[in-house]
Amino acid sequence: MASKQKVWVLGNGQLGAMLSHAGQPLAIEVLPVDIMTPTDVKLLLADDDIITAEREQWPESALSLQLSSHRNFINGPVFGRLADRYSQKSLLDELKVATAPWELVDDNTDVNALYAKYGERVLMKRRTGGYDGKGQHWLKQAENGQIPADWRNLAIAEQAIDFDEEVSVVGVRTHSGECFFYPLTLNLHQDGILMASISPLPRLAPLQDEANAMLGTIMHGLNYVGVMAMECFRVGEHLLVNELAPRVHNSGHWTQAGTHMDQFQLHLRALCNLPIQQPQVNFPCVMVNLIGIDKDDRWLSLPNAELFWYDKEVRPGRKVGHLNLSVHNTAMLEDSVAKLKSWMPLQYQAPLEWILRSSEF
Ligand code: ATP
Ligand code: MG
Repeated sequence: MASKQKVWVLGNGQLGAMLSHAGQPLAIEVLPVDIMTPTDVKLLLADDDIITAEREQWPESALSLQLSSHRNFINGPVFGRLADRYSQKSLLDELKVATAPWELVDDNTDVNALYAKYGERVLMKRRTGGYDGKGQHWLKQAENGQIPADWRNLAIAEQAIDFDEEVSVVGVRTHSGECFFYPLTLNLHQDGILMASISPLPRLAPLQDEANAMLGTIMHGLNYVGVMAMECFRVGEHLLVNELAPRVHNSGHWTQAGTHMDQFQLHLRALCNLPIQQPQVNFPCVMVNLIGIDKDDRWLSLPNAELFWYDKEVRPGRKVGHLNLSVHNTAMLEDSVAKLKSWMPLQYQAPLEWILRSSEF
């Protein structure tokens, strides 16, 4: 018997765990690696093992180097390029993919010139390390906002986009350069953190071709293989790219319940050069992120809920799980959301109401 295909993952958080879960029915052994804790352990990597990552950045260590220098570290150069917002935004400009107007904040950047160019509110974002809205700093002309010295050369400045809503698309590119895309997902962010997603929504369908073309251009431009996510702002009839993730993504978690091939399996199939067809949507889905709250087994009593609990220590603002609610009929969704509203704390009331308001299937 041929030995099992192994896929090693740089990082051992929830994305790695969900990749492992998706690998099981394909008999792909997915091995997430903790690259944050220093260790002397050397991994037993075989030549035809495959290496991927569940994050864009990692500390350099003997362990991370062993993985990232393997000949089958797929998309190796892409991670660093997208992990730095400066090179990520430069790439979007080079590929002529529409994005929020921006520039590097360097020693010569004058805050008044930023206000003159972009308007009275300008968003600075750290070049690296930001996530869930961390690493952002708003400059407000009305408050005489100035550039902190320790943000120079380490941040970009972006025009504040008065968007209608936030959407994302998750797609895949195969070794032979074929691309497939899931339907657009509508996302609600609160304080920079994704709270909930809905997909597919018929009213977003007119934007799908534009989204696919943008992400396709990016994946081809990078000669990328596997799943990539593109977060966008919808401004009227068009999209602006906010940011890219060279990996499976939180806004694609709904595919676990709603499609015949979720984003985790799709990524593994692409990495392992297995056949891929267009993922089929079985039914619309709503995803609710569980952030900083304790597990509540009442969630399991909902008729249409699938719980993914990450088994991490619960801390304020930390993603500790998600709930996928499949939408077989609106009445069931409304009933489940009403129950969640009665069980969940204050910060969930607005996202749950948003779900009801936005769910037109
Ligand atoms: P993630 O966890 O998705 O990686 P992040 O913290 O890295 O997020 P962004 O996605 O760039 O950073 O920003 C977080 C949120 O901040 C966005 O989802 C959006 O709500 C808001 N935001 C970002 N850029 C802008 C902008 N130019 N104008 C207005 N709002 C913005
Ligand atoms: Mg984001």
